[in-house]
Amino acid sequence: MNSTETALPATDAPWIVMKFGGTSVATLPRWQNIGELVASRQAEGARVLIVVSALTGVTDALKQLCSESKAINRSEAARAIAQRHYDLLDHMQLSMPATLGERLEDLARLANEGAATLGELAWQAQVQAHGELMSSALGAAFLSHSGLPTHWLDARDCLSAVALPNQNERTRLLSSMVDSRPDPALAARLAAQGDVFITQGFIARESQGRTVLLGRGGSDTSASYFGALLKAQRVEIWTDVAGMFTANPRQVPGARLLQRLDYEEAQEIASTGAKVLHPRCLSPLRESRVPLLIKDTNRPELDGTVIGPEVRAHAPSVKAISARKGITLVSMESVGMWQQVGFLADVFAQFKHHGLSVDLIGSAETNVTVSLDPTENLLDSDAIAALATDLAKVCRVKVIAPCAAITLVGRGMRSLLHTLSGVLAEFGQLRVHLISQSSNNLNLTFVVDEEVVDTLLPHLHDLLISAGALRTDDSALFGPSWQALYGNGESVAATTAWWRDAQREALLELAAEKTPRYVYHLPTVRRQAGALKSLGAVDRLHYAVKANTHPAILRALAAEGFAFECVSPGELQAVSAIVPASTPLLFTPNFAPRDDYALALDTRATVTLDALHPLEHWGELFHGREVVLRIDLGRGLGHHEKVRTGGSGSKFGVPLDQLTQFLQLAQTHGVTVRGLHAHLGSGVLDAAHWGEVYVQLASLAERIDSVVFLNIGGGLGVPSHPGEASLDMAELDRVLREVKAAYPQYQLWMEPGRYLVADAGVLLARVTQQKGKGAYRYLGIDTGMNSLIRPALYDAWHEIVNLTRLDESATALYQVVGPICESGDVLGTDRRLPEADEGDVMLIAQTGAYGKVMSSHYNLRDEADEIVIE
Ligand code: ADP
Ligand code: ASP
Ligand code: MG
Repeated sequence: MNSTETALPATDAPWIVMKFGGTSVATLPRWQNIGELVASRQAEGARVLIVVSALTGVTDALKQLCSESKAINRSEAARAIAQRHYDLLDHMQLSMPATLGERLEDLARLANEGAATLGELAWQAQVQAHGELMSSALGAAFLSHSGLPTHWLDARDCLSAVALPNQNERTRLLSSMVDSRPDPALAARLAAQGDVFITQGFIARESQGRTVLLGRGGSDTSASYFGALLKAQRVEIWTDVAGMFTANPRQVPGARLLQRLDYEEAQEIASTGAKVLHPRCLSPLRESRVPLLIKDTNRPELDGTVIGPEVRAHAPSVKAISARKGITLVSMESVGMWQQVGFLADVFAQFKHHGLSVDLIGSAETNVTVSLDPTENLLDSDAIAALATDLAKVCRVKVIAPCAAITLVGRGMRSLLHTLSGVLAEFGQLRVHLISQSSNNLNLTFVVDEEVVDTLLPHLHDLLISAGALRTDDSALFGPSWQALYGNGESVAATTAWWRDAQREALLELAAEKTPRYVYHLPTVRRQAGALKSLGAVDRLHYAVKANTHPAILRALAAEGFAFECVSPGELQAVSAIVPASTPLLFTPNFAPRDDYALALDTRATVTLDALHPLEHWGELFHGREVVLRIDLGRGLGHHEKVRTGGSGSKFGVPLDQLTQFLQLAQTHGVTVRGLHAHLGSGVLDAAHWGEVYVQLASLAERIDSVVFLNIGGGLGVPSHPGEASLDMAELDRVLREVKAAYPQYQLWMEPGRYLVADAGVLLARVTQQKGKGAYRYLGIDTGMNSLIRPALYDAWHEIVNLTRLDESATALYQVVGPICESGDVLGTDRRLPEADEGDVMLIAQTGAYGKVMSSHYNLRDEADEIVIE
């Protein structure tokens, strides 16, 4: 990122505006990404204007500061906010830049003084503007220090708020709009000063010189205003997701990336709830036809969403389902409303008077109901109460809140109605307060009680796909799901994990005896077994023992009634030594030598073949036997390329085009195919997946008379990243029962591994030392990839905590590494943890699966031992 290495932009070089949101500017590694990204745009020959948000959470903290009535509390809040910035400076190893120092002093002064001098709203705007003023000052210092000379620009000198006729003081100061006609003079002035600028999102200046805000989330809109003013080549919105998805991916992990959208559709998705873009940010670009790109700062290699002027011809499809919470409905009743001339004019005049903009409208003979959207209105209870009092003079008023608006978005909604019957049926169970179909034919909205939304949305999204209303088969438009892109990550289970409270002391004692050490919690194994046993359609559950072959776990699962799936003679032996002789076994090897089959055929195990070779060359071995055929359905799934076990890129299974040949070989050798098997990969969190495999296997089985069971594999994921939803077992149960009802003649088998044991295991290790190097702080522990290879092999993310200091605040940013002589010996990158000391006990979570079984003596280091908690 050394600017001297990049060619200087030509005098007529285009502008690229890059906006980085709150999470994108909150840590040192993100700023390092920003530096690289900006340098790469410069290398394209562009001038760059960086627009930044406040560090994540800072605008909220500033708002909170504004609501404190006591000066002492406000000053304390200002100090805590300042501390966030000191911490980041510390990680950046920078001394306080004068520009930031001034801001912090200014904030301390404003906090202490309170609103008296400036007036409440102007003071609030001024205080909240400091979030972006501080982050941009910090960013300018960091980038310049890293060799990318960056000019700090005050956005208020460029963005002039326009006074709109119906604005009140509140909207004028806190949710303002800006004149964004192209300004060649600004472009020329900046070009004369330099090539890289950094400025603030969220703020502008009004005609009297006061600082104004653009509304919560308004930094996106700042970027657009700058894009339009500078007639930029494009605007890039860098955030914490790889684009706009078909639904909020934090709510619907199966949501698909929307690869390209026109302004109108994107606008509709943004206005109806997709927080990823501020609803006002598209109109400035639409007028000047500047394209907008949404990208993930942390994963710049992902494609993202391109929004531009081209309307692509394609079959009508629902593009997204969004939800807006915090909606207030105002229902107004008046007898003989339609006969009363001017009734609507009277009531709407009240909305205007109170500075409230109406979103949806529904009407009946004696009633008109409107919705107020919190992103367009500053809805506090005072504002609503004042409105209701005035409305009560002309009609009977009822305020219904909190509600949520669920919107289906897509061009040509009316022509899609026939595909929506299943979706509409869902609303039959709910109180629907209002339905509205937009006159531009782009959306269909249902207002319901707010509390139902979180569970309803993922379900509706699934229904839209299965009904063919959301046409995910159009791969030019619909990219991968969020889960497919991010599915291998952060921990939900971790917050309620067994090791956090009840067993913490016991674990610390175990670690005091010896580390590194794996500890397994059998009640968790049993809990997971119980969840699997709730799947009513499944006739036989096998534990895929390769995940963890500890005898206590095998014993516990045998007691739970599980059968066992093994992939090698060693596993067959280990299992046979432990479980009762009546327990069914399944042998599902891959590229196993002849002797392995010979050995397995001498046991009670049901043997699976997944290639032609064994029958072609060792036919006599299998003569008269019954086997299972593992089929490659032509596609793989899973959290990482290395765990996908389908498709021609993977070595597993007999491809469909060799099926006939396999059956002929079986016939020739007197072999009976009793079962069909497919397993596409691991870490799958979408219930629909097993339904698809099941149906595919069942329809293939119908061509083979001898088949009596279908083994749909395992691969059931356990969520590891915060916010990642777990696999919906009730939904999986429903999906499987549905297929079973269609194909009752086949028994259903499954073979999960990770699902049963991942959460049950933790790896305990001890801190040995720390090292600071450049911007990084390495935290060394007494074991590494020799004990746990998943991070190195699959980029797997495991939650890591300092068990000794579980309750201390996480103020340090560490790279957690082991003692193995490999650069890849990193167990966790960028981990926020308490400041650690030599001897602290670190816990690596979710290591019950593929932990110990994949460990080695590499570097001749001792292997971790294993302890079981009953
Ligand atoms: P930033 O701080 O970078 O401005 P935001 O939090 O404002 O980021 O916006 C990004 C978030 O928007 C995502 O993390 C996601 O939770 C949310 N979001 C809601 N709906 C969608 C959607 N349809 N597509 C993508 N993200 C969405
Ligand atoms: N910092 C502002 C907010 O949190 C603006 C933004 O981030 O877009 O609302
Ligand atoms: Mg945002």
